[in-house]
Amino acid sequence: ITTLALVLGDQLNAGHSWFKTIDRNRLFVLMEVREETDYAKHHIQKIVGFFAAMRHFAQALSAAGHHVCYLSLDDPNNRQSVTKNLSALLQRLPRTRQVQLQQPDEYRVDEYLQAWAGQQSVEVQWYDSEHFLTQRSVLNDWFPGKENFLMESFYRRVRQQTGYLMENDKPIGGKWNFDKDNRNKLPNQQDVAKPLLFSHNVSDIIAMLKKAGVETIGDIEPQRFIWPTSRLESRQLLDFFVENLLENFGRYQDAMHTEYWSLFHARLSFSLNTKMLSPREVVEKAISYWQNNSSRINIAQIEGFVRQIIGWREFIRAIYWHHMPDYSTTNFFENKAPLPSYYWTGKTHMLCMAKSIQQSLEFSYAHHIQRLMITGNFALLANVNPDEVDAWYLGIYIDALQWVELPNTRGMSQFADGGVLATKPYVSSGSYINKMSNYCQHCHYDVNQRVGTNSCPFNSLYWHFIDSHYEQLSKNARLGLILSQWDKRDKTDKQELLEQARLYLNQIDSL
Ligand code: FAD
Ligand code: SF4
Repeated sequence: ITTLALVLGDQLNAGHSWFKTIDRNRLFVLMEVREETDYAKHHIQKIVGFFAAMRHFAQALSAAGHHVCYLSLDDPNNRQSVTKNLSALLQRLPRTRQVQLQQPDEYRVDEYLQAWAGQQSVEVQWYDSEHFLTQRSVLNDWFPGKENFLMESFYRRVRQQTGYLMENDKPIGGKWNFDKDNRNKLPNQQDVAKPLLFSHNVSDIIAMLKKAGVETIGDIEPQRFIWPTSRLESRQLLDFFVENLLENFGRYQDAMHTEYWSLFHARLSFSLNTKMLSPREVVEKAISYWQNNSSRINIAQIEGFVRQIIGWREFIRAIYWHHMPDYSTTNFFENKAPLPSYYWTGKTHMLCMAKSIQQSLEFSYAHHIQRLMITGNFALLANVNPDEVDAWYLGIYIDALQWVELPNTRGMSQFADGGVLATKPYVSSGSYINKMSNYCQHCHYDVNQRVGTNSCPFNSLYWHFIDSHYEQLSKNARLGLILSQWDKRDKTDKQELLEQARLYLNQIDSL
């Protein structure tokens, strides 16, 4: 062995050029380490999902004829740190002349690998992960000198560059963005396909984690782990999405429902973030399916989906790399409150919160609007410290890696970056939740009441948020209408709302 090549748990990219030829002098190294299981308190399904997918990937590499070293968490030689294990391997394999690393996506991992690489006497070669459509430095490259970036400008540039949904340099359908067509509530008679769930036996991994004392959150069914753990299964999930869900994806993208935990969402983020799937193959598959079924699937549905992958996902990563490390400590509203205890149990009378949290604990998944407009919205209205909000989102979701979790949470959801990512804070009263879901119909609280014992907490907390951040918000042109609505309310009305909000804030843990 003359070359060690490290494959991290989120670098399971079978299409990477590393794997194109068999090099018997190269050893691929994969490792399960406490450093990664313990940097946040993760959902058990998240750790199991990553380890199961890594194990499968290592087996596939071996079967294809590559040399592979796989260190499981309980391996006696495991030093429980990526760099310590690499150093130990270099000692055991003294003929090694080169270590190959793929550029990691998380700042934390980048820092420890860079520091380690700087101390080695062997050559360290860095490679692109060959996954994303854009580079880490894309914002500087495309918009030099600018500090404010709009997702829409970025997205158009990616469309032009890739040619996706383009015809003669023009967007197909005559518009770049069909977002306005994509905001419907789920009608009563609408059929929703049952999600495709896998059924893996992962008892061995669970037993290993228990024995090692790894602390986790959430539930898991040891004999029926539902997430894809291989490229083949990830592609099956993609096929299932385009054939059954794409048709209604955009239309009900913002809808929420007590009976359906994933509605028409793809549930592909785990496969994408581990790189079992590439963003290119996902959009190309979806576009080709739409082209062959354009009588059934309209342009708004396909555009809505493509925008998430080549627009939002790439933009989020670009923002992360443009603003780290400072981004991780931003706290625009100086929020300090602790996260209410029901974020860890789902035990609250607010049905929208209970449902969104319970399904997160059960499946390690909630869809975008639940994350943004239910749990995220409430945390912001309850003045929760963004550090605590971040830790929760980073732990609970199967797809949570800091490069994508942090800008979505701190930026888009908590507005802690003061407007770097979102053009206004995503907060709402109960009426938005009522408009987009059936939660309020079954809730202990009354969405139509603004004050009083059974009044929906989102209502008074929303106006409390507007009032307490009035000055900061008044600099935002998009909030002019809301602020003037607040101004126009009579004094008693305002006082009642603020009193109700204070009452709720004082008993936030028992709502
Ligand atoms: P779909 O709704 O089917 O969308 C398809 C794909 O588009 C997703 O798989 C994802 O790859 C991409 N996508 C859509 N929106 C976003 C977005 N805002 N940012 C990045 N990619 C996007 N996504 C993560 O992958 N990891 C996270 O840790 C994460 N944390 C979030 C935290 C908050 C507070 C919010 C509001 C959003 C977060 N998101 C995160 C974005 C989004 O909610 C998830 O990507 C999505 O819910 C995953 O489910 P899906 O595959 O069914 O997505
Ligand atoms: Fe949520 Fe309020 Fe509706 Fe209850 S009434 S589900 S708390 S928005």
